[in-house]
Amino acid sequence: MKRFLAALVGALVAAGAAAAATPDLAKMSPAELAAFMTAFPKGGELHNHLGGGTPAEDILTWAVEDGLCVDMVELAIRGAGPCTADNLKPAAAVAGDEALRSALIDSLTVRHPGFRDRSGHDQFFSAFARRSVLPRRGGDALAETLDGLARQNTFYAELMVSPQVGTSRGLGARVGWRGDPAATRAALSEAGLEKLVPAVSADTDALEARARQVMKCGAPAAHGGCQVTVRFLFQALRQGPPEQTMAQLQLAVAVIQADKRWVGLQLVAPEDSYDATRYYDLHMHMVDLLTDHGRKVPVALHAGEVTLKLVAPAEVSHRVRDAVEIAGARRIGHGTDLPLETGAAQLAAEMAAKGVLVEVNLLSNQAILEIDPKDHPYAWLRKMGVPASLSTDDAGISRSELAGDYAAAVRNGATYDDLKTSARNAIAFSFLPGEGLWADPNSYRRPVAACAGQIGAETPHGACAELVARSDKAREQWRHERLLKAFEAAR
Ligand SMILES: [Zn+2]
Repeated sequence: MKRFLAALVGALVAAGAAAAATPDLAKMSPAELAAFMTAFPKGGELHNHLGGGTPAEDILTWAVEDGLCVDMVELAIRGAGPCTADNLKPAAAVAGDEALRSALIDSLTVRHPGFRDRSGHDQFFSAFARRSVLPRRGGDALAETLDGLARQNTFYAELMVSPQVGTSRGLGARVGWRGDPAATRAALSEAGLEKLVPAVSADTDALEARARQVMKCGAPAAHGGCQVTVRFLFQALRQGPPEQTMAQLQLAVAVIQADKRWVGLQLVAPEDSYDATRYYDLHMHMVDLLTDHGRKVPVALHAGEVTLKLVAPAEVSHRVRDAVEIAGARRIGHGTDLPLETGAAQLAAEMAAKGVLVEVNLLSNQAILEIDPKDHPYAWLRKMGVPASLSTDDAGISRSELAGDYAAAVRNGATYDDLKTSARNAIAFSFLPGEGLWADPNSYRRPVAACAGQIGAETPHGACAELVARSDKAREQWRHERLLKAFEAAR
């Protein structure tokens, strides 16, 4: 009897512990949820454009420091002074005038609905050209992004950047379209496209060196961002003539093969635009050819970031499917049109089976596509078993941060366990090389044999220690599991 009672008490304690470890997010007040999500270890972020992540205030600060001008007609950051033209004002004069400063911040973000009578879509996408401070301040932007993630207890990032845009696209323009992707690829190589790889590596060196300097890495006052592991995704623009997109994609493949900091490629720009629409399938065939259907280098693609309000129904019918089946994408950015695609349920099942992850950007989709987080297909993706991970897209333009996307997911019906899966997916489905800690990514019930019974422990032992030492992915997962355990224990 005594033994039975002890067992019963043990079971009750275990049940109590389990209940405490599974918070009911739907019952939290907005304030409680915000605090919870900021502290929750969100694993990493797989969809974050370095050019859209910076808060407008930092951009204005850098413009003042660099003596740049502001175009007062467009409310846009322009080049260095003297700001003699009628429409220009020194950034310092704008920063010192509260009304002008506020108008500029409105212009660089989507915080002011209906600003200049633009739709959220037009305001969002046009903001990139008005806030352009890359590559000059790329290292500062990188530091700001990494510090922001560390402050939110998140320590892995894959950031999208477009290095050597002018040179690669210029080469594409000179070579021209040679009738098909294979012939164009050969002509680009002959013209020396791959010779740009060292310039990209040098740009990356400079970017990282400046970020480390800003974050004081290695010094006693080192910022939290120094602890964030960062990798880069090479983003090509889907606008303009196809040979220019091809040149960027081809350089991306060469860079990813040569420089370990670059782990995958992406295709970006408004997917409903003229070129993105008319060349959509040609772009998919380019990626298929250049990457050998994703076997040569990992492929993530923006796909299905459209609604029936933005494109004709025929366009909504195939975007994600073509990215997966033609281009060989292992990750899909947005995928909001997926439920409207032809054979949607079969496609979702195919993605679940293949382990193709959707990078879900709730607040960006709210601003650009006018999809309320509660109506977002994220709930349906979870139900269909499609792996998903939450990310910000362009937090500086959205005036948000990753914790906000996690909080918005609760309005979509996501439970604590769903968000834990999102966080774990951000590393398991990253393009980091090496075997992971889990035999069943997106479920997380079975660790790999080497680490059975060890996940969440302080230090790995035996074969698990060897795995963590040799695999970048396992190392990041180990760190994240430690953070999760500490977070849950502290509640
Ligand atoms: Zn994006």
